[in-house]
Amino acid sequence: MNTRKTPVNVFDLVVFGGTGDLARRKILPAMFKRFCAGEMPDGSRLIGVARRAMPAEAYRDMVRAALDEFLKTPIDPEAVEHFLQRIEYVQLDAQGEDGWQSLAEMMLPDRMRAFYFSVGPSLFSDLAARLRLWGLADENSRIVVEKPFGHDLETAKALNAELATHFKECQIYRIDHYLGKETVQNLMAVRFGNMLFEPLWNSQYIDHIQITVAETVGVGGRGAYYQKAGAMRDMMQNHMMQLLCLIAMEPPAKFDPEAVRDEKLKVIRALDPVEPHHIIRGQYTSGEDVASFREDVADARSKTESFIALKCHLSNWRWAGTPFYLRTGKRLKTRSSQITVVFKDAPHSIFGPASGRHNNELTIQLQPDEGIILDVTIKEPGAGGMKLIDVPLDMSFAEALGPKADAADAYERLIMDVIRGNQTLFMRNDEVEAAWAWTDPVIKGWELRGDVPKPYDSFANGPDDSSQLLRRDKREWRGIKR
Ligand code: NAP
Repeated sequence: MNTRKTPVNVFDLVVFGGTGDLARRKILPAMFKRFCAGEMPDGSRLIGVARRAMPAEAYRDMVRAALDEFLKTPIDPEAVEHFLQRIEYVQLDAQGEDGWQSLAEMMLPDRMRAFYFSVGPSLFSDLAARLRLWGLADENSRIVVEKPFGHDLETAKALNAELATHFKECQIYRIDHYLGKETVQNLMAVRFGNMLFEPLWNSQYIDHIQITVAETVGVGGRGAYYQKAGAMRDMMQNHMMQLLCLIAMEPPAKFDPEAVRDEKLKVIRALDPVEPHHIIRGQYTSGEDVASFREDVADARSKTESFIALKCHLSNWRWAGTPFYLRTGKRLKTRSSQITVVFKDAPHSIFGPASGRHNNELTIQLQPDEGIILDVTIKEPGAGGMKLIDVPLDMSFAEALGPKADAADAYERLIMDVIRGNQTLFMRNDEVEAAWAWTDPVIKGWELRGDVPKPYDSFANGPDDSSQLLRRDKREWRGIKR
C-alpha cells in the first residue's frame, strides 16, 4: 500500500444531519482529529446542516460538547477553538425549499465540496435532487451516502438510478465504515504484500473461513428501523459481505478503486444460493436488566432476527469446497469482530496420535483490539517428551507499532479518502446490487416458509442451532468465547 500521504486541497465538508447521532459521535470527532493532523488546509470548512433553527455559535457549542463527550484522548482546548472557527451551520429542510438558497450562497466556486448524507435513508433521493436543483451537483461535488443503501434489490436499484441522474458514479461514495478499519486494509497488505500466505490461500490448504461480528448491545433506540431490517439487512448484506469479499477475492492487478472493486464484485457473483438448513436466525430474550428483542422492537410476535448465522460457498476455482461460516448478532457475550482462516491439518502427523490434532489459524481481529494473530504449533517446553501445543504469534498493532500505530478511526480514514477522491474503500453501484441480489432470495425464502427465529439468552453465544451448524461439519466457532 502507498505509505506516502496524498496532499489535501482546500475543501468544504457539508454534513446533512450535522446535529444527529452519527455526526456527533463519529464525523465531528473524526474531522477534529484530521484538523489536528494538519489535513484541513486553511480556508477549509465543515458546514453542519439540519432542520432545527440554531445560530452558528450554538452549533459550535454543540460540536465542542460532542468532542468532549466522544473523543477518548485528552483534547487541546486551543486546538478546539481553532477548529470551531472552521465550523458553520445552515438550517435547511431536505424535503422542502427552506434554507437551500443560504447553502447555495455559502458554497464557493473552484473548491471541492463533499456532501455527507448523514440523515435517514428516506432523505437520500431528496438531497441528491435538491443539490442538482440548486446547482450544487457540478464536477466539484461529491456525495457520501450512509447505510442502509436500499431495503432490497429493487429499492437499491431505484436509489442507484436516482443518484445517477444527478451525479456520476465517480462522485458517489457509498460508505461502509468496516472498510475503513486499519485491520481490514491490513488484510489486503497481509494477503498481497507477503509471499507467505497467498500460495496457501485456497481450498487446497484452507479448511474453512469464519467471520463473526458480535455485539453486546441490543437494538437500543433503533427498534423501529431494526424491526424492518433485521441482522441480514443491517449487517450481513453489507459489512459481512464486504469482509467476505476482501478475504476471498483474487489479487487485483493494482491497488486502485476499479481493480479492487472489480475483484470484490466477482466474489459476490460467485456466491451460491444459501441452503435453507444452512441459515440460523435468532432473537435475544430478556436478561438481567435488559429487555427482550421483541420488547425492544415493540412487537410481541416479531419474526425479525437479531442474530443470523449461515454457511455459504463460492463457486470458483480458488474456493470450490471451502465453506464460509458467517455470523452476526446483538446481545452476545462479547463485542468482537474477527475473521478466522482455519488451515487444514498437516497431511501426516509424524508425532503420532498422542500429539493430538493441530492446525494453523490466522485470526484477523477487527474489534475491540485490531490485530492479526497466527497460531502455530510448537513443542511444549519441558522434558515431558514431544508434546505439541498451539501458540499465537500475536501482532497487536498497538503493541507492535508503538507510537507509530495509527489510532485513526475508520471514519477519519474514509472521510479523508472522499476528500482526496479515492473510492477504493467505497462500494460501487454494481457491488451493492449484486449483494442484494444474493440477499433477497435468502430473505424471501424464510418469509415464504414462515420461519420464526430461535430465542437465545442475552449475553451468551446465540442460538444452539448456530453451534450445531458447525458441529454437523465437525467444526466449531471461534471468536465469541474469550
Ligand atoms: P439521527 O440521530 O436521527 O440524526 C438525523 C439528522 O438528520 C439530525 O441532524 C436531523 O436534524 C437531520 N434531519 C432529519 N430530517 C431532516 C430534514 N428533513 N432535513 C434536514 N435534516 C434533517 O440519525 P443518525 O443516527 O445520526 O443516522 C444518520 C444516518 O447514518 C442514517 O442513515 C443511519 O442509518 C446512518 N448510520 C448511523 C449510525 C450511527 O451510529 N448513528 C451508524 C451507521 C449508519 P433535525 O431533526 O434538526 O432536522
